Amino acid sequence: MKSRGLAVDNATSPLKTFEFDRREIGAHDVALDVKFTGICHSDIHTARGEWGSALYPLVPGHEIVGVVTATGSGVSKFKVGNLIGVGVFVDSCRKCDTCLKGLQNYCLEGMTGTYNSMERDGKNQTRGGYSNTFVINEDYAVHIPANLPLEGVAPLLCAGITLYSPIKHLNVGPKTKVAVMGLGGLGHMGLKFAVAMGAEVTVLSHSPSKENDAKKMGAHHFVSTKDISALDTLKKSFDIILNTVSAELDINAYLQCLKLDGTLVVIGLPGKPYALNPGVMLDGRRSLTGSMIGGMPELQEMLDFCGKHNIVSDVEIIKADYANTAYDRTVASDVKYRFVIDASTF
Ligand code: NAP
Ligand code: ZN
Ligand code: ZN
Repeated sequence: MKSRGLAVDNATSPLKTFEFDRREIGAHDVALDVKFTGICHSDIHTARGEWGSALYPLVPGHEIVGVVTATGSGVSKFKVGNLIGVGVFVDSCRKCDTCLKGLQNYCLEGMTGTYNSMERDGKNQTRGGYSNTFVINEDYAVHIPANLPLEGVAPLLCAGITLYSPIKHLNVGPKTKVAVMGLGGLGHMGLKFAVAMGAEVTVLSHSPSKENDAKKMGAHHFVSTKDISALDTLKKSFDIILNTVSAELDINAYLQCLKLDGTLVVIGLPGKPYALNPGVMLDGRRSLTGSMIGGMPELQEMLDFCGKHNIVSDVEIIKADYANTAYDRTVASDVKYRFVIDASTF
């Protein structure tokens, strides 16, 4: 199936127009006309080789929304014309313990990434959603609530689920004091979900100019971490800290802000290890954990939750030819709060 989109040729190349073939739809596949694709910071880390060498030419994009244009003979979940979403992975082994629990994101054989992976038959490289068409096995796609603006839904497929999952797993609710580190694509979704669960939410941001936006999105408190010593006034304040920061930082300065038995969730992935001070873990029986996107059932649950509570991402819609600038602005923390590419411009 012919597709046109954007690709990088190597770690230092810009995104350029790229034409390629996708597999023809099989019995359980669905073809879609892509409408919007979000730009996740993971796309940038991968394209620029910050997580190790990628499979080039690389077509990034794992926040995909579109309309079904064709279905294979065995497809029962979707019909032509349905709104459809595809997230961070397109397949998994389907038989390991975690897959059988619906946690395909933690597949013991490794999930098949929407891009930068080989398909499970080993024949073709997966190519992401910076493109006008997509082909997906029906089991790895979700339905989109019809009441939500489609451009604001695209980022839910990665940024949304990645914050919804730990917030649910850690039972965030009305009595929980939550801090969100970094008000970017992931962070602003974490803020919206934690507020929707009734938590008292503080945004910890190194961009003081984001305070008004944070408050409009429901933040109860905003603390600028431009001067990191601001964290000294927050010692033992939070039950849960959601770390969505894409850059290296002093993790100990944040850990000290956890209350007794508090948990800091690592979500941002800068690609370099933290220098952890064991002493800060001991004092207050603190926990440090991680979370990676979410499984298929939870992805659908999150979208249904968003439909019910009218939650979408705050987006800036761009044309394909603005994507390189959007990358640079994202890295400079100048994103409000997710760039979304209009797929008609590929
Ligand atoms: P993003 O939109 O660029 O947001 C990251 C935010 O981190 C920035 O907006 C900024 O917020 C803060 N930040 C950036 N540089 C900083 C610095 N030098 N010091 C302090 N704060 C800084 O990125 P994103 O798309 O939300 O992704 C965030 C991270 O999560 C990335 O590393 C990405 O790869 C990772 N990720 C993980 C998963 C997962 O499954 N765990 C899924 C998707 C993405 P302020 O301006 O408010 O400080
Ligand atoms: Zn992502
Ligand atoms: Zn598996």
